[in-house]
Amino acid sequence: MNCIFCKIINKEIPSKIVYEDDLVIAILDLSQATYGHTLVMPKKHYANIYEIDDDTLAHLIKIVKELAIKLKNKLHADGINILNNNDEAAGQTVMHYHIHILPRYKNDDLNINFTDHSKDTNLDDVLNKINS
Ligand code: AMP
Ligand code: ZN
Repeated sequence: MNCIFCKIINKEIPSKIVYEDDLVIAILDLSQATYGHTLVMPKKHYANIYEIDDDTLAHLIKIVKELAIKLKNKLHADGINILNNNDEAAGQTVMHYHIHILPRYKNDDLNINFTDHSKDTNLDDVLNKINS
């Protein structure tokens, strides 16, 4: 499979490894959107959250928590964002499941905007659609 993260996992291409065990690996994201930007991914190829097996995901999220705490402490971050993109429409560019850990600093330039659409949205309609 022509997957860049599988190649990283198989050590066919280099990466900066932050953490590794039998099931998961964490590497520094090349883009460094913020200082210490890290990706945590399963070693087995799953495209996205819909596909990843539950036990692997449970282990992976524990590692995400441990690394979030470690990065916050060691890099003196002021906060942490945890982000996972699924599908192109959501900004996924590498189709091997991964979670971004983004250390945040008071004056960093990362832009995550939640526009308020509450005036145009009927919450009961949304709820009915989800639960119908
Ligand atoms: P996403 O848009 O959620 O699929 O994120 C993919 C991320 O992978 C981007 O933030 C890229 O900077 C990062 N990336 C792509 N290739 C590499 C690589 N060879 N080593 C480290 N990070 C990479
Ligand atoms: Zn892969």
